[in-house]
Amino acid sequence: MRDVLVYAGHEAGSLNRSALEALAAGRKLANALGEGLAAIVAGVDASGAAAQAIAAGADKVYAVENPILAEFQPALYAAAAAAAVQQADARIVLLNLDGAGRDLVPRLASRLGAAALTEVVSFAAEGGTLKWTRPVYGGKAMAVYTALKDRQVVGLRAKTQDPATLDNSRTGEVVKVSFTVPESTAVTRVVDKIQEAVSGINLADARIIISGGRGLGGPEPFKELEALAAVLGGAVGASRAAVDAGWVAPTMQVGQTGTIVAPDLYIAVGISGASQHLAGITGAKNVIAINKDAEAPIFKRATLGIVADYKTVLPSLTAELKKAFGK
Ligand code: FAD
Repeated sequence: MRDVLVYAGHEAGSLNRSALEALAAGRKLANALGEGLAAIVAGVDASGAAAQAIAAGADKVYAVENPILAEFQPALYAAAAAAAVQQADARIVLLNLDGAGRDLVPRLASRLGAAALTEVVSFAAEGGTLKWTRPVYGGKAMAVYTALKDRQVVGLRAKTQDPATLDNSRTGEVVKVSFTVPESTAVTRVVDKIQEAVSGINLADARIIISGGRGLGGPEPFKELEALAAVLGGAVGASRAAVDAGWVAPTMQVGQTGTIVAPDLYIAVGISGASQHLAGITGAKNVIAINKDAEAPIFKRATLGIVADYKTVLPSLTAELKKAFGK
C-alpha cells in the first residue's frame, strides 16, 4: 500500500492553515483509495508540526530536519520534499498552492519526473483512476484531468478545502528522512524580511469581507465600506480595478492575482464579477452583491443580490446593522 503524501507547511512547529486544508483533502483521498495518509514536515525543529500532522489526520509523518532548512528556500525545500517522497515511495503528493506550494509543485514534479497538476479544486477516485478538476479560461469552465504518469504532484487551490480539525488523541508514526544537500543547491538567499503593517483583521483570514470595485467611483467611498466592516467585525477588500486606479493598497486586492479568501460572508459593492475576481472567492460561503446593473455577472455567484446604486443602500444598511448590533 502506498500512502497518499501531503506536504504540511508550518511556522515554528505550528501547522499553517494551508497544511490543514491539504491534510483534510489528503485524508478524503486516502479513504477513497483505501490507502493511508502520510505527511512531510521539513525544517529545523519539525517535531511539533509532526505531532500536529498526526492530530490532523496523518497516519505517518516523514520528518526532514536539517539546519540548512532554517529559512524557506524553494530549491532546498523541494530537495527535502523529494527525499521524503522517495523514502515513502509515494504515488500521490498533495500540496496547498499557498506561496510555498506555488514554488514547490513544479520543482518537486521536475525533480521526481512526475506529472504536475495545479489549481485543483476537487478530485474523485473512480475505479482506481484519479480525476482532478480545476477551473480553466479564468474560471469560465471546469476541466477534469487524469495524469499520464503514475507519480503525481498535485497543487490544490488555496481555500477550496475545509481545514482539518485537530484530534490530539490520534496516534501515528514519525519517520526521520535522511537528507543531505550541498549548500550550493540554494540559488537564492533571504536578505531581509519586511513585516507588512496590517491594521484590523487580516483579509486572508477574515470571516466577513466587504469589497469595493470600480463602481465606487473613487477612494472616498471605501470609508463607507470600512464603517460597515467595523460594525460587522470584518475586513475591507477590493477588486483589481480599484487597486489599479490607486484608490486602495494592492494588499487589499481579492482575486486570481490577489488574495484568495474564503469568508463566511463576502459583500461585493460595485464589482462586476469578472472571472479573475471570482477566482479569489471560490470558497466564500455566502456572497451579497450590490450593483446597479442587473445583468452584472456577480449576481450569478451571489447568494443575495441587491440591484441598486450603492449610495442608496450602504448608509442605511450600515445604520440598520449598527442598531441591530447595538453599536
Ligand atoms: P468593473 O468590471 O468596471 O465593474 C464595476 C461594476 O460597478 C459594474 O458592474 C457596474 O455596474 C457597477 N457600478 C457602477 N456604479 C455603481 C454604483 N453607483 N452602485 C453600484 N454598482 C455600480 N480583478 C480582480 O478583481 N482581482 C484579480 O486578482 C484580478 N486578476 C486579474 C488577472 C489577469 C491576468 C487579468 C487579465 C485581469 C485580472 N483582474 C482581476 C481584472 C478583472 O478582469 C476585472 O477587470 C476587474 O475585476 C474589474 O473590476 P471591477 O469589477 O471593480 O470593475
